Amino acid sequence: MARVLFINARLLDGTGKPPVSSSTIVVEGERIVAVGQGGDSPEPASGDSCYDLSGKTLMPGMVAGHAHLSYPDFDPDDLNSIDMAYPPTHMAVIAARNAERTLRAGFTAAAGAGSVHQIDRMLKDLTRKGVIQGPRIMACGQDIMPTAGGMDLKPAWWGMGLNGLPLIVDGPIEVRKAVRLQAKEGNDLIKIYPQGGHGVPVRGAMDMRPDEIEAAVEAAHDKGKLVRAHVVTKPAIVLCIKAGVDIIDHGNAIDDEVAELAVKHNVFFLPSLYMASIAPHYYAPRGDTMPPAERIALWFESAAKRLASAQRIGVKFVVGDDFGSSITPHGDNGKELAVYVRRLGFDPLDVIGWATRNGAEMIRKEHEFGTIEAGKLADLLVVDGDPVADIDLLGDLANLAVVMQGGRFITNRLAVPGAVAQ
Ligand SMILES: [Zn+2]
Repeated sequence: MARVLFINARLLDGTGKPPVSSSTIVVEGERIVAVGQGGDSPEPASGDSCYDLSGKTLMPGMVAGHAHLSYPDFDPDDLNSIDMAYPPTHMAVIAARNAERTLRAGFTAAAGAGSVHQIDRMLKDLTRKGVIQGPRIMACGQDIMPTAGGMDLKPAWWGMGLNGLPLIVDGPIEVRKAVRLQAKEGNDLIKIYPQGGHGVPVRGAMDMRPDEIEAAVEAAHDKGKLVRAHVVTKPAIVLCIKAGVDIIDHGNAIDDEVAELAVKHNVFFLPSLYMASIAPHYYAPRGDTMPPAERIALWFESAAKRLASAQRIGVKFVVGDDFGSSITPHGDNGKELAVYVRRLGFDPLDVIGWATRNGAEMIRKEHEFGTIEAGKLADLLVVDGDPVADIDLLGDLANLAVVMQGGRFITNRLAVPGAVAQ
């Protein structure tokens, strides 16, 4: 089988090692079959296509850790526009476009964080069959939350059989049934909303009771599904981790004690600070007198210290935020990395690791992708320049010379390859 060789690459393999220059990466079929440096590089053979990557970086495809591919670039001033502005047919077509945008932005895999009309599940099928292009999808169906929960926003008089994003259930029995319904639909991830906050209306300290959270985790794990929880306060995070939740979305109040617990239970965290960085007013507590930009600056200053400490303790962070609103359109996903580097002071190499290796590990796919190693799927990017020196490069798909998924070029802006003579 003809192979594709990338030579003279600056290799950022996603394992956390600094980039290595003069690397050769060989792709055959859907997989990476060899990686070498300098004199140890594999030699091109007759019939191979050989691309010279001088001045470019080759890195793993990224993982969108908190994807809402069905969100129709909603109006953030009207949360019901997430799921009620368009009929399901319209939403499905838009979601297919969103999936392709996400892939072209360098995200070759995505972990769902809630989708309306089981659209994630449909996208997963259609991308696998090659009908549409999109990331490899870990599907997530409806949000599970109780009556009067943060996103229970449909007034009772709307009771006309509308089936929106949240599935409103109360008590462990109903919660179990809701989780099993999502599992039956073929979802891989179950999203629960134990409380509001982080851009979602806050209606009391907690929305879900401990027995409801435990019931959700139990029912999900029985079916081999991962559970992700939208939580912000320390008692809520601790409760979720102790109940067996696998992924904490937002987790604003993380501190050293929470970090130690998270490491002990192998729980992944998504700080998800992109939307807050560009639209602070959506995150201001009700009645706050401090200007939103000042409030967010204080929050980020404190988050920088707490997240850095949590990473030292061993917490694994993953990138992902609420892309799919009018101010955070699908395809802008790569801009999030710069927030952690420029505003929170993280090492770009660490943050790239969150977006690649950690993302794959969070969805238990680290044996398949997330790093550039022989045997892994050829899900990779070629970036013009060095994203470790300039993290903003990953925020603009114009800098992605190649997006490759399973050995197939999705984007290829490289010069015509030198074909090795027969
Ligand atoms: Zn979300």
